[in-house]
Amino acid sequence: MIMSSDFCSSCDKRCCFQASPCLTSAERKRIVEATGKDLFKRVQGSYFPKLINGACAFFSNGRCTINEIKPADCRIFPVVRGRDDMFIDAYCPKHGDIPAAEVAEMAAMASVTAPREVPSKGIPIREYLGMRGRGFRERFFRELEKHNIPEDILLLFR
Ligand code: SF4
Ligand code: SF4
Repeated sequence: MIMSSDFCSSCDKRCCFQASPCLTSAERKRIVEATGKDLFKRVQGSYFPKLINGACAFFSNGRCTINEIKPADCRIFPVVRGRDDMFIDAYCPKHGDIPAAEVAEMAAMASVTAPREVPSKGIPIREYLGMRGRGFRERFFRELEKHNIPEDILLLFR
């Protein structure tokens, strides 16, 4: 969910439950320094927030307590970059309502995040663009042109 997104405003922040944003060590360091707490676990060389009562350790009173400095994975959700493809995670209940400009912005940000495991409800982004229809697809590509995206990533969308 990007910082000011309207599509998240009416959601119960499902993505913060069973949360699994994957952090780089630099992101973890930045958050530990800013909060004074190390609420992360390390799994196979990557960092993830610990869960408290099924929610991300940074989730409190219905909101993210580190919103301004939250990890890139949280900013781009439900867009997820896999090793060989990009996905929209249908675990997000609003995944079918996100405006084209926001999908393009998140996809552009995802192009510089580390690849991660394919989500169990992941829809390949090409398939997703087809599902949203021709007008959406055209708007998505127009918006994408505003971002400087490497050619190998652009191929994932065509
Ligand atoms: S689950 Fe989807 S709609 Fe809900 S807060 Fe997360 S990104 Fe936003
Ligand atoms: S860091 Fe914030 S946005 Fe990300 S999962 Fe945790 S509470 Fe949610």
